[in-house]
Amino acid sequence: MKNLSFWSLRVLLLLLVFFSVAPALGLIFYTASEQRRFATIQAQENALQLARLASSHHDGVIEAAHQLLAALARLSEVRNGNATACDRILADLLKQYPIYANFGVIGPDKRIFCSAIPHPNSIDASDRAYVQQAFKTHDFAIGDYQIGRITKKASINFGYPVLDGTGRIQVVVFAALDLTWLNQIAANANLPAHSTLTLTDRHGIVLTRYPDPEKWVGKSEADRPLARKILDQGEGVADDQGLDGIPRLYAFTPLHGAPEPGSVYVSVGIPKEAAFAQADRILMHNLIGLGVVGILALGAGWVFGDLFILRRIHALIHFTKQLTAGDLSVRTGLSHDRGELGQLAQAFDDMTQSLSTKTAAVKYEATHDPLTGLPNRFLLQDRLQQVILTAHRENKPVALLLLDIDRFKEVNNALGHPVGDILLKQFGLRIREVLRESDTLARLEGDKFAGILPSAGLEGAMLVANKIRKNLERPFLLEGLSLDVNASMGIALYPEHGMDAVTLIQKADIAMYVSKESGEPFFTYAASRDQNNLRRLTLIGELRQAIKQDQLFLLYQPQISLQTGRISGVEALVRWKHPQHGVVPPDQFILPAEQTGLIKPLTLWVLKEALRQCGVWQREGIQIGVAVNLSARNLLDPKLPDQISEILQTSKADPEWLELEITESVIMTDPLRAMDILTRLNKMGIRFSIDDFGTGYSSLSYLRRFPIDTLKIDRSFVKDITENPDDQAIVSAIIVMAHRLKLSVVAEGVETERQLAFLRSENCDSIQGYLFCRPVPVDEFKELWMSKKSIPEH
Ligand code: C2E
Ligand code: CA
Ligand code: CA
Repeated sequence: MKNLSFWSLRVLLLLLVFFSVAPALGLIFYTASEQRRFATIQAQENALQLARLASSHHDGVIEAAHQLLAALARLSEVRNGNATACDRILADLLKQYPIYANFGVIGPDKRIFCSAIPHPNSIDASDRAYVQQAFKTHDFAIGDYQIGRITKKASINFGYPVLDGTGRIQVVVFAALDLTWLNQIAANANLPAHSTLTLTDRHGIVLTRYPDPEKWVGKSEADRPLARKILDQGEGVADDQGLDGIPRLYAFTPLHGAPEPGSVYVSVGIPKEAAFAQADRILMHNLIGLGVVGILALGAGWVFGDLFILRRIHALIHFTKQLTAGDLSVRTGLSHDRGELGQLAQAFDDMTQSLSTKTAAVKYEATHDPLTGLPNRFLLQDRLQQVILTAHRENKPVALLLLDIDRFKEVNNALGHPVGDILLKQFGLRIREVLRESDTLARLEGDKFAGILPSAGLEGAMLVANKIRKNLERPFLLEGLSLDVNASMGIALYPEHGMDAVTLIQKADIAMYVSKESGEPFFTYAASRDQNNLRRLTLIGELRQAIKQDQLFLLYQPQISLQTGRISGVEALVRWKHPQHGVVPPDQFILPAEQTGLIKPLTLWVLKEALRQCGVWQREGIQIGVAVNLSARNLLDPKLPDQISEILQTSKADPEWLELEITESVIMTDPLRAMDILTRLNKMGIRFSIDDFGTGYSSLSYLRRFPIDTLKIDRSFVKDITENPDDQAIVSAIIVMAHRLKLSVVAEGVETERQLAFLRSENCDSIQGYLFCRPVPVDEFKELWMSKKSIPEH
């Protein structure tokens, strides 16, 4: 019953039931009022009938009195005035006619000399109207209504003159009609209790009244509306309160045979209560009936409303509250019938169903990588945290493996993004093959993947890493191309390397970075490696100063033309003379310098120093150009052309002296930008060579679009050139194709005579390597040049 507010459905339902019952109530009251109206008419008609009856009865009574008096007049005892005999006869007569109050005889002196009711002495009746009239008209006379002097009763007197032979009045016989005869009529009429029958004169004085005449006779009703209406209308009906205070319905009519017409009126009053008794009883019955029906209807409304509407509405409300609270599994639990509520329930259920499907889809999208369908970084972190919690409870280890495809960017740019996408998908599948069902594999971003290995310790993780390495030995088939793909892997372990997901991911990341740097297929995080990192970080911090403080210096490695046997060029290779660690080789600081951006000032330093040195050589008559290595960051830096042109100017160097060495991967990382900057530098007269050629994913025909003069075949192909027929084939093919494209070819890392011989036989243009000379300081190079050392013809 809580929450029963005015607008609650239950209240509204009950109101509805109430309003549907209300017209019946109105009808009942209307009928009741109609019935009362009808009863009024009925009662008044009855009363009028009775009044008329009384009035006409009165007529008869007068006629009877006339005849009775005429008969009486013939009696000698009456005519001759023997008082005693007369008295006796009249008294006998009175016994026979109880409706009369008295009989009597009046002498010529107008005094009463005999009477049925005995009286002390003769009474003078000359003042009575009927006496005067009878003497005047010598005919039957009707008197006024009066209170009898002898009888003390309300009566009407009739006089009948008895004439002698000469026509003079001998006596007047009279009869006093007891007006209580009216009582008789009223009693016979079977009137309801407290009904009245009244005679009033024109002054509103009550002449007689049924019942209790003695109580009312002589009283005036003149002030009452009824009396006024009677005088106004003569005959009619009225609704008034009697002198006794009871409300009645009245009907009135003039009394026939009154001495003067309109001098006396009969009125009949029936108590309203009695008149309306039936109508009121019916009303009561109807009201009780309606009350019962109404209560039943309300009860039915309550029960049925509850059963068919309210319970279902409440179920729907409960449902929507659950839904609002975020519970998408909730259902209404109502039948899907064809009623509105059933349809609503169905709509709700359908809506939640599709909502939960969509939410699941959205959740899936938010936690999965759209390309591979693998969990994303967000989900990985979440799962890893879960796995760590379980491992913590069960006292077990967890291994996290981070993988990164080597040189993926190059593949992407060389073969196009669609192919790169295929590679990512295939790579994911390849890793998945090795993992267990319970392991999670995720793609973090780009070419970075991660695997959670629950319960795996160091040994387990290394086993998996080795399996992955083996599984990657099979080449990938991408759009008809066969591609060798390697990955660098980093391993971090719970609890040794971190207690939470974020730390583990960080440590695995460092380990993976080390793996990439070292070229090892995988690396397990080690705190000592962190120390190394620290050393490298301090080294990088020091490098900044080293560049400014001229701790760097260049070694020069000559290139020998196979046509002339003489030095045709020289490559500048940087070294760092560290105050504590001595000479640091470039592979220890070039990569970190590239990652921190320090490579830019470093390269500028090398360019300045190499060009300065070249200027010195030129002045000394050593006509030679210098080759400088550029890294990716340099080549993609839009400021590079301006900076180089500025250096050329300040060092008064000829652009022709400069050759820039770039790798395939530098070009393939961002070919458009590389093309733009290469073109601008080339227009300045600077030459380009492709360093470490053969190790990347570029094709010669693609590279030809760039302004390049020279290819430097990578050391790795030259190394086994005398034993490995594949390498021989590759090298000779490169040379043939390069020459077709009008590119000259330098072979790097030539260490033996046999390598030299093969290269010469394949028409390689130049060589660079320990066979002829290691990278040397500037003085040694000058000596070498001056010694005019050359390679033997054969
Ligand atoms: P790179 O550009 O391929 O340089 C040639 C490397 O091969 C040099 O190593 C050189 O000493 C080595 N080398 C030459 N002939 C032989 C040989 O017959 N056998 C063997 N095993 N090695 C030979 P280095 O000087 O240690 O330089 C390593 C790499 O460091 C260079 O490879 C280059 O990528 C980078 N580097 C060196 N100096 C610079 C520089 O000034 N700027 C940039 N960006 N990178 C540089
Ligand atoms: Ca080089
Ligand atoms: Ca090289």
